Amino acid sequence: MNRANKYISEMKNRSVTVIGLGRSGAAISRLANYLGSKVFISDDTSSQSVKENLESLESLGVQGEIDGHSNKIFHTDLIVISPGVAADSPVVLEAQKRGIKVIGEIEFAGLFTNSSIIGVTGSNGKSTTVHALVKMCQSEEINGVLAGNVGFPFSDKVLEELQNPACTEEIGDPKLVYVLEISSFQMEFIENFHPYISIFLNISPDHLDRHKTFDNYLTAKLRLAENQTEQDYIIFNADDQILADALKKHKAKKITFSPKYSDKSIYSINNSNVINKEYAKLTNLENIGLPGRHNLYNLLAAASGAHCLGISDARITDVMHSFKGIPHRLESIAKINGIEYINDSKATNIDAVKVAIESFEKPIILILGGLAKGNDFAELLQFKNRIKCIVAYGNAKDIIHEELYSTFDVSKIKLLQGAIKLSYQKAESGEIVLLSPGCASFDQFKNFEDRGIKFAQWVMELGK
Ligand code: ADP
Repeated sequence: MNRANKYISEMKNRSVTVIGLGRSGAAISRLANYLGSKVFISDDTSSQSVKENLESLESLGVQGEIDGHSNKIFHTDLIVISPGVAADSPVVLEAQKRGIKVIGEIEFAGLFTNSSIIGVTGSNGKSTTVHALVKMCQSEEINGVLAGNVGFPFSDKVLEELQNPACTEEIGDPKLVYVLEISSFQMEFIENFHPYISIFLNISPDHLDRHKTFDNYLTAKLRLAENQTEQDYIIFNADDQILADALKKHKAKKITFSPKYSDKSIYSINNSNVINKEYAKLTNLENIGLPGRHNLYNLLAAASGAHCLGISDARITDVMHSFKGIPHRLESIAKINGIEYINDSKATNIDAVKVAIESFEKPIILILGGLAKGNDFAELLQFKNRIKCIVAYGNAKDIIHEELYSTFDVSKIKLLQGAIKLSYQKAESGEIVLLSPGCASFDQFKNFEDRGIKFAQWVMELGK
């Protein structure tokens, strides 16, 4: 019996507690329920979406509770947690004290598939890279399936695989390759999770509110490669010294990516052309659909991953030309009176803000703010010549003001809509209004998508 089939058969009639009734928790429950386990799901909140998720699971026969965890959650031999549940949360600590096994969603779903997995992690660029990579992974021989932190829980995709008649009992679907976006939170509770290819894009301080130290954050990210063997691949950014040092001791075959040529890389840049190892040209940089040097790194990373799966240079080149990026990442919203409005709502850390600033030549009115998460805004002091002024809004406005007022004209305002109106007043033709907030969105919005959509709406209302 192969690996996944063994775990599948062990799940029948087993009791499983799922913590967290968001998208991931609901998906874990559906998968466990399908496998014949007795599922109990619990959430300590009671928002509308949590209520709706519980109702829909109850219709499948799953039991659950909201608005607090009762002792029922510990009457189980396995607890599966959603990525939003921290390693030091009382539920996890109590479960560990009682000797109950606790695993995360990615570990859980990964047990029930034999298909190859590519895991992509890093502080920035994950979503952009997995979207480009999954497009490259569409060929006669390979069917790339996107999942993970990108918004489609891995558990749902594994459930689809198990329900698909093309997935035969013993071997699974031979064409299927999972392209997973992996966050540091998702690696905190893995044990067996084993990607064939791991991609490390970059590392810079982020999520320090949860991981506490940079070292903890780095350690969580590196766990993506911890079960990889000599048969597997690690693809990493050669220009990120922290990653290069940290990955030295890992066993898997190493491939680097960077615009600079190296004998360890598959693609590089020569005379403004993307070239392969044999110096054959894939394309000229001018033909690449995605602007920004940071995106060149993302595309080189995706191309290297696709190459390791046997995807042709021709297919990779097609995607380099046609892929135009995803919403809320340096997305041009409108040009009003000669002023361009850019939605970079997904920039929730300072490194992302830095690459956003570097992507424009024109003077920038920068909207920063939202929920602070331990970021060092002082790193923006170096952009004195590019930023015309800063408008700081929301929960983080005072910290931003304190760290930046010595160098920049920083205005403080409570709400994002006010920040947009103020930017409109300050901007002149030929300039850029850039929402690249450097903070989480949760103080005023459901998530970064909600913030980006509202930004676009409010921009469209300007001058009316
Ligand atoms: P993630 O999924 O890791 O958050 P995204 O592709 O969603 O990455 O991009 C998040 C933010 O980071 C956006 O503001 C984007 O412009 C910026 N970004 C994208 N790629 C990189 C990179 N390689 N280095 C730094 N910032 C990047």
